[in-house]
Amino acid sequence: MLLVFGLTAVFRTVSEGTFHCPQCGGDRAYRRRTGRRWFSLFFVPLVPLWRLGQNVECRACRRRFAVSALRTPTAQQMAAALPAAMRAAAALVLRAGDPSDGTARARAIDTVAGYGEPGYDDAGVETDLELRRDVLEREVALAGSQLAVEAKEWFLAQVVRIGLADGPLGEGERRVLHRIAELLGMSRAYALGVIVTTEGASR
Ligand SMILES: [Zn+2]
Repeated sequence: MLLVFGLTAVFRTVSEGTFHCPQCGGDRAYRRRTGRRWFSLFFVPLVPLWRLGQNVECRACRRRFAVSALRTPTAQQMAAALPAAMRAAAALVLRAGDPSDGTARARAIDTVAGYGEPGYDDAGVETDLELRRDVLEREVALAGSQLAVEAKEWFLAQVVRIGLADGPLGEGERRVLHRIAELLGMSRAYALGVIVTTEGASR
């Protein structure tokens, strides 16, 4: 009798989700798979041997990638990062001024709505004002890594307008605005230009 034996790789799915497929160039479903080499007899895996690495397979194009492909943000995550960053920046600048000022809060709500979160309201402002500074700063930095130069400038100008809503900028507000600019990846001189221009336009 002829024995047919060999080595077979068997993969099983360990998790599923949505990722940015480098091949399709968009948000796609993926499955994360882990593999093991088996000793097989008559093409039936019999004895488990060594483990193979994990990989990620795109359900659309079937291409496989290293697990590090999951680190790239999806388009949906990027779209959500922007209003989250504006919420955070608004909370930072409100806190540096008068966080109870109604005009400033209304300006913050309008601005966040303009950045794609129309449901944002006073309760949302209240929640964001409670968050730790490093949490808020991380949200701003995340968006900063994705924005083009012009979009950063516009973002900062919007935050300056929130700061101006309760009256002229105080020292604390200026410090926070420069910190936000730094998190966005803007130079200090560039940020100063945007702040001064926005102040001038509001007079
Ligand atoms: Zn794909």
